[in-house]
Amino acid sequence: MSDYRTEVIILKYWKSKEYDRIYSVFSREHGKIRVVGIGTRKLVAKLASGLEPFTRSDIFLVKCRYLDRVTGAIVLRQYKTLKQDLDYLIEGRRTTDIVERLLPDGEANEKIFVAMKEYLKLLNTLAKDKEEDNKIEKKEQQDFISQLAQLSLLWKVIYWTGYFPRFSNCAYCNKKVAEKEVYQFVLSQGINCGCTNHTGVDLKLDLHKNTIKIIKFLVTQDINLIKKLKIESKDLQELKQFTKLILEQIVERRVIF
Ligand SMILES: [Zn+2]
Repeated sequence: MSDYRTEVIILKYWKSKEYDRIYSVFSREHGKIRVVGIGTRKLVAKLASGLEPFTRSDIFLVKCRYLDRVTGAIVLRQYKTLKQDLDYLIEGRRTTDIVERLLPDGEANEKIFVAMKEYLKLLNTLAKDKEEDNKIEKKEQQDFISQLAQLSLLWKVIYWTGYFPRFSNCAYCNKKVAEKEVYQFVLSQGINCGCTNHTGVDLKLDLHKNTIKIIKFLVTQDINLIKKLKIESKDLQELKQFTKLILEQIVERRVIF
């Protein structure tokens, strides 16, 4: 009775009518799509558990004129421990929220799908570790890993959407920028090699060579390799601040993470 079946990660949902929900899901085969779950807001809803945010499921759909309707869901991975840990739950929500806004409609990307899967798996593992060992020193290390994992996923998505800043050439004279320790980055433009003072009202910030290097690592390397990165906390702060500004410029609203 279904028209098609697809593997998805549930990103978020909205209420619809009295008992329904509209879901934004990232499908391995079809990219970001919106689908409707009839009756998923009822207390006893068989479908609902396979459609909870973060869950990875195989879903069955019937083609409809407006939104395709979910007729069944098989849970592939629930990431249960992650959902039970409030800190990671909030962090995961914030990440999927931003990713949801960044992803283009209906464009599949296997690499991003896998990265998203790896990200959720990593958060779930961190949540399990925390359950077993709740020491402060351990927590710092876990927070560090989860933040880098988040940044890794976000930069991969930014790169894919085509909003990746150009670090190699000057935004004003287009010449290749000579290597130095600190670059001047003009928001919504790019690197200023020093050739122009007329950068208008755009926000200017210092960007260290190391930050750019880390961003390139995050884009190109597997999320599980971030444990190998050695970053000082001031570098991480700069990276987070820069990422926030770039994201806000893309989604045109405030971003919290
Ligand atoms: Zn220049």
